[in-house]
Amino acid sequence: MDWEFLDIANEFNSGISPSIQSDASYHIIISDDEILSINGVHPWRPLNQDEWRWSGLDATVEHYLGEAMGIPIFACEVDPEADNPPGYEFETLWTFLGQVDEPIFYLIGRAKQIVEWHRDHQFCGQCGAPTTASEKDRSRVCKACSQTFYPRLSPSIIALVTKGEELLLAKNTRARGNFYSTLAGFIEPGESIEEAVHREVYEEVGIRIKNLRYYSSQSWPFPNSLMLGFHAEYDSGEFVLQKDEIVDAQWFYYQNLPNRPAMFSISGWLIDDYIKRLQNQQ
Ligand SMILES: [Zn+2]
Repeated sequence: MDWEFLDIANEFNSGISPSIQSDASYHIIISDDEILSINGVHPWRPLNQDEWRWSGLDATVEHYLGEAMGIPIFACEVDPEADNPPGYEFETLWTFLGQVDEPIFYLIGRAKQIVEWHRDHQFCGQCGAPTTASEKDRSRVCKACSQTFYPRLSPSIIALVTKGEELLLAKNTRARGNFYSTLAGFIEPGESIEEAVHREVYEEVGIRIKNLRYYSSQSWPFPNSLMLGFHAEYDSGEFVLQKDEIVDAQWFYYQNLPNRPAMFSISGWLIDDYIKRLQNQQ
């Protein structure tokens, strides 16, 4: 079946080994953090079985990701020293952001994260013995000391703080250009998600918030974040900025916002969602 007819959003089932035989398959090729694209094919798609076979590349390791409508999909890691096959090009994950449909972007992110996890867990972090793949689930096991290593996710919170018709947006020290966004940070060990939201907002801009409402989440594979998005309301305090993180933070009237995140990020969704609510109230 052609790639364009595979409904990745609704029909993808993840797994660790194929449960059915199929003549067709798709292959996401990863070399040194970059993903192989076929020149002239837009939008991007993985290589089909024949393209992969004739590409001249060999997989150092192949991971079954799952199947969509009976067609298995694999992530294939290749030697970073191998030559670029003619007609193909390796591109960074950033290149795909906003350029492919979201389910495809998350599938590519999944492939890249699994390849990286596998590469980084060849040896046990506790005793140094080689690990082996578990037959039960996506993990690597150290037989010497019984440790199990799963693909790592780093949960982060992201919060849009509001005060009536005003939105709190901040310019991060790492942001490129004149660009304001919602506040975000990693969850610390021992913390609940909600505690992390309160702490991050207070640390970054010095204010207290209330009425947290969970909005939605987004896989953010740069390199392995899981973003948990919240709406929150201003409670008390004045801005005290965390200088090494935040250059500027302001309350912006919703009809007069600065440059803000694109709609392929949860930050953009949160802002858009709040503006729509305000508009619906009128
Ligand atoms: Zn061990």
